[in-house]
Amino acid sequence: MRGVYVAVAALTTYSPVLCYHRIGGPLELGVTRVGRSVFARQMTALARAGGRTANLSEFAGRTQAARHTFLLTFDDGYASLADYAYPVLADLGFTATTFLITDYVGQTNTWDVGYSWERLQHLSWPEIERWRGRGFEFASHGATHRRLTWLDDAAIATGLGSSRDVLAARLGADAARAVAYPFGAVDARVVRHARSAGYELGFGGVKGGGTGGLLHLSRVPVYFWDFGDVPLGLREDALGALGRVVAHAANRCAVGTSLMQVITRKIAPLRESVVDA
Ligand SMILES: [Zn+2]
Repeated sequence: MRGVYVAVAALTTYSPVLCYHRIGGPLELGVTRVGRSVFARQMTALARAGGRTANLSEFAGRTQAARHTFLLTFDDGYASLADYAYPVLADLGFTATTFLITDYVGQTNTWDVGYSWERLQHLSWPEIERWRGRGFEFASHGATHRRLTWLDDAAIATGLGSSRDVLAARLGADAARAVAYPFGAVDARVVRHARSAGYELGFGGVKGGGTGGLLHLSRVPVYFWDFGDVPLGLREDALGALGRVVAHAANRCAVGTSLMQVITRKIAPLRESVVDA
């Protein structure tokens, strides 16, 4: 466990950022679900090793990674986080930042390709407010989870802006500081729009950087095959390096999901017109 944070800290001058999606709940054909016992084991191991979670302000305020500190993030804001993830974290004295798809708060995940047998529920505003009261943070994952790099300027601006407005109105200015780009897809144009919408921090995929600075930060996703005590993204050995390569490849594979979304959006009206007929 010794020195597990060093490798990722070297990738970015900031503390490493771990990115989970769904914890527990129904199995799926996709790769982003991590079992609840695996998650609990990983968090317990990190806590025992002296790990500490940063909040967004601490993270943004440090240009040098603080020893043993990492930012823990969840994308998509599934309701099961409140059942299986947050209580584990609260018991360990950890907190996390959850990136919400603001148009789908309290709704099911009809924005996604149907990887699971049943549609999955997202966190509701009352649940979000309850966990916020316990030190958990919430931020933007866009309004509708569309891949921003594929949209025109007006759609990017509207998506990022409306999501930020909703968060600021519901939760206050603190919740309007950060965005995790859907699918980690970000380029110079998206960074420009994020900046003019008013975001200070923007999180992408495994490879951050470029000239985006704080609006193009890297994260290490944790996928279902990552079931060791220490998530691969925090290991400094060969397995850790391999894990980051695989995570990068899997993130790129999410292009398939984006394509499916575009296709199903095109098909849906056809399907409805058939049903109507
Ligand atoms: Zn997402």
